[in-house]
Amino acid sequence: MKIVLFNIKKEDEKFLEIWKKENIDIEVDSYPFSLSIDKIDLVKGANSVSFSQVKDVDDQIYKKLKEMNIKVISQRSAGVDMHNLSLIDELGISLINVPRYSPRAIAEYVLATAMYFQRNFNTILKRTKEFNFFSDHTILSKEMRSLTVGVLGTGNIGLTSAKLFNSLGVEVLAYDIYENNQAKKIVNYVSLDELYKRSDIITIHVPLTNENYHMIDDEAISKMKKSPILINAARGGIVDAKAVLRGLDSKKLKACAMDVYEDEFNIVGKDLSEKAINDQLIKQIIERDDIMYTPHIAYFTETAVDNLLTFALDETLEFLKTGNSKSLVKIK
Ligand code: NAD
Repeated sequence: MKIVLFNIKKEDEKFLEIWKKENIDIEVDSYPFSLSIDKIDLVKGANSVSFSQVKDVDDQIYKKLKEMNIKVISQRSAGVDMHNLSLIDELGISLINVPRYSPRAIAEYVLATAMYFQRNFNTILKRTKEFNFFSDHTILSKEMRSLTVGVLGTGNIGLTSAKLFNSLGVEVLAYDIYENNQAKKIVNYVSLDELYKRSDIITIHVPLTNENYHMIDDEAISKMKKSPILINAARGGIVDAKAVLRGLDSKKLKACAMDVYEDEFNIVGKDLSEKAINDQLIKQIIERDDIMYTPHIAYFTETAVDNLLTFALDETLEFLKTGNSKSLVKIK
């Protein structure tokens, strides 16, 4: 059996070598770039291909993969929006994804950014860089156990975040369209308005859907208590970033951690240090001390990288051996 992996990065290599040693009878080829139609010959003789790209896959590629007898594609991410699902289905190719690779990675990011702003490190570090070692009420902090955190969405990541906050003695409120019995042991489900009204820290863990596009807008921010910290490590489109800037300017919001940005596809994963950035909004965001922008790295831990690669390969093998996998993407 042969599997060809594309988009393999330096950090994947260690885990790929381990998997290859544990599966010596499987032939594995790997490349750092995305599969394009001019490189399709690299797939010759393979039973499966694996991608980790964010850009849409060219329809011609699927047709060629079918001609080359590829049975299954694995996508090393939870989201599969870069794939033409109806075409894959029509061609009779199966698709595997990695729905849960480390909720803890994102939850720890949330806790770290919440504490960064809660302890006013943005202001303290700015002052110390100016040799201002004065301490006054503007950097006086509250302890986590005296705070209320509002978790929007109590699925895999939201629940893991809630557990971390709960372990620090924080009161955790939550809002979800489907309440989760496991979560009820540590969170109090409340209405969205009550969550906005009572939370000192609001962290977003819902998927982006047509219904919740710009869910956090001027109106939502106006319902929040004075100066909460807002954290978005879900999807950029859930938050209207311009409304956040207005909220910060008016001091309605204290600070915002943004791991995701609506137009991130133009910047994430690229080194633009020597290039001009045309997006004025992201420039404004990055320049501010009361926003911590990070380029979609909340998940980026060794555990998550290992899980993404190893799970995709294990499930591919399972599918090739048995014709089934617990991680098949249901297309219809
Ligand atoms: P999940 O499917 O396990 O949980 C999502 C929860 O949101 C579910 O409980 C669902 O009922 C709830 N929900 C859906 N729509 C809602 C709405 N409009 N209002 C309230 N609740 C709603 O998802 P997950 O794996 O926990 O992922 C959460 C978010 O994190 C997603 O947006 C995902 O894309 C994002 N994510 C980010 C990173 C990163 O590195 N920043 C990595 C992985 C996932």
